[in-house]
Amino acid sequence: MTSISNAKLLLIVLLLQQFLFGLLWLGAARLRLARRPALHWAGFACLVAGGLALILQRGQAPQFLSLGVGNCLVLAAFVALRRGIQRFARLPTRDREHGLVMGAGLLSALSTAMADLNPLPAVLLVAAAMMWTLLRGACEIRGALAAEFGRTAASWCAMPIAMLATLLLVRSAAAVFSPASFQNYLQQPGGDGVVAAFVALVIALLLQANLTAMVLLRLVRRLQHQSDHDTLSGLLSRRRMEQLLLAESQRQRRFGQRFAMLSIDIDHFKRVNDGWGHAAGDAVLKRVAEALRAGARDIDRVARMGGEEFCVLLPGADEAGAHGVALRLLASVRALHHPEVNGATVTISIGLAVMAEPAESLQALQLRLDRALYGAKAAGRDRVERALPAAGATHQAS
Ligand code: GH3
Ligand code: MG
Ligand code: MG
Repeated sequence: MTSISNAKLLLIVLLLQQFLFGLLWLGAARLRLARRPALHWAGFACLVAGGLALILQRGQAPQFLSLGVGNCLVLAAFVALRRGIQRFARLPTRDREHGLVMGAGLLSALSTAMADLNPLPAVLLVAAAMMWTLLRGACEIRGALAAEFGRTAASWCAMPIAMLATLLLVRSAAAVFSPASFQNYLQQPGGDGVVAAFVALVIALLLQANLTAMVLLRLVRRLQHQSDHDTLSGLLSRRRMEQLLLAESQRQRRFGQRFAMLSIDIDHFKRVNDGWGHAAGDAVLKRVAEALRAGARDIDRVARMGGEEFCVLLPGADEAGAHGVALRLLASVRALHHPEVNGATVTISIGLAVMAEPAESLQALQLRLDRALYGAKAAGRDRVERALPAAGATHQAS
């Protein structure tokens, strides 16, 4: 039985690890999880596995295959990794640069076929192409993802890629200063070959874990955004508004920070749908929603509660302040032009309530708001109606 060196064993583990990650990324692509980057990263993992399979044949297979083609496959893997990163970060894919890098790789692979030529320059050329690709990829990932995930998370994502480039630099230096031991490091039972293989194994795991974390983090953010926002109008969702209201009422209980609420309903909206169709109704809804968002103060939160009903939370507002905002919203919605309904004027009715002190229950506040809105409708629409003071309130802000 032939014994197998530790470095070889570690590289076999690395090969299997990358093959499994390749399958994982193919699965992710099938599930439409960052489909295009996932396909690139499946390619990256499989090319690393293929390249390693050839590199492990060193001494047995011809030098052209084990050294030339093996290194070329690993270089192609790094190009696929970087292209996947560019896709993920929505950066241009820089195919001309990738082509140049692969050209250098192919040239060095071909030169290893010539038996009487020293393979060291070819190895160094391909290592330089790998380092270039990795370092550029690390910079791109750090710059592009800082805005999305924060600078720390972006640096963490870039780190294993930069570490891989550093490992290549160290290995290239070893090849220059000690070509003989570099030639047969796969056959040696210990030495720096084992250390390098172990470090590569850890970095590759870290790298794949980071890529996975990036995809999952983006997915979680997207799901959070979807559950917090209404798809038609882009305003906050009912669920998010209920959370904010709860937080605001707790803040009032603890710190006495007052707030007001506006409950808004489009007038005779059914007529819009019935007269001009549902699509026209949707366009009007979106425009009114945008006017409400633009008309509210920066600190106010605007939500679509369902159908043609909206709600505005005004932290820190008293009744007079909230009334001013409500009048402004009425005017800005009335001034909108809706080409979908032949320019017909669309108006809203608003119920206004200020949270009583001491804080009433949210259900009681909602009831007062509903009554105020019904009052505005009954009084002729296109107006604001203030809610009656809460029963048992010691002081109604004014
Ligand atoms: P009022 O002045 O009393 O509020 O009358 P209204 O017609 O606005 O009130 P009503 O509640 O009877 O009608 C609301 C309509 O809103 C009914 C429904 O078809 C329409 N609607 C609800 N959600 C949507 C939506 O997402 N898109 C469109 N186009 N219409 C919707
Ligand atoms: Mg309604
Ligand atoms: Mg209505």
